[in-house]
Amino acid sequence: MLKLVDKVRDNLEAVYSEIADAAAECGRDPGEITVMAVTKTHPAEYITAAVECGILHIGENRVSEGGRKIKELGKDYAVFHAIGVLHRKEVRQALRDFHWLDAVDKIEIIEEIARRKASPQILLEVNTSGEEAKMGFPPDVVLLESVLGRALELELPVQGFLTVGPLCKDLSGQRKAFEDLRVLRDSLETRLSVSLPELSMGMSDDFALAVKEGATTVRLGRRLFGYRETCQVNL
Ligand SMILES: *Cc1c(COP(=O)(O)O)cnc(C)c1O
Repeated sequence: MLKLVDKVRDNLEAVYSEIADAAAECGRDPGEITVMAVTKTHPAEYITAAVECGILHIGENRVSEGGRKIKELGKDYAVFHAIGVLHRKEVRQALRDFHWLDAVDKIEIIEEIARRKASPQILLEVNTSGEEAKMGFPPDVVLLESVLGRALELELPVQGFLTVGPLCKDLSGQRKAFEDLRVLRDSLETRLSVSLPELSMGMSDDFALAVKEGATTVRLGRRLFGYRETCQVNL
């Protein structure tokens, strides 16, 4: 049996080569794209395996589950991102354990972060597909302008946006969602004269498309580690 770390290394090599191809196609430098390993449902050894393969950024979508593993490994072991929905009562623990909150989707969460005088790196989640089951702010430029305005007022470091592409068989829907997020980001940068460099978009089935639409981080679970027994996506 192939050791976990060897399996992850092989999978990662194939991922990097797909990223390089996608980047070449649109004239981007593949070095500006970060691979985040999403280790939800897996034990802490999966984080260790990813880090041993050179991955720095780890995504967990439940604060309590991720927090347990982070406690086991130490907060300095990697850069930990909370990528799932965040409830107000979880903010305290999330701030303690995670470096980045990547799925902030309510103004009350922004207020709560500020109230606790914390300044984690923040991404706002946007529901680009409009699917009801998905979390995130609606892709409304006026609304997002006011949310970002409030975050600026509170001096919170919002770095950009995260989205989960729509569930559909043909990939044109995903590509459109990623394109929409980039266009939205560009117009918010202009309207507010701020820099919002991070676009976290693309998962195991659609990361090459996301790269073509400007992703700076792709979030990969199955593609690195194989299938999960439970399929929780951001719920
Ligand atoms: C689970 C999850 C991922 C990774 O999904 P895969 O399809 O396994 O690559 C990425 N982002 C979020 C928000 C997730 O919940």
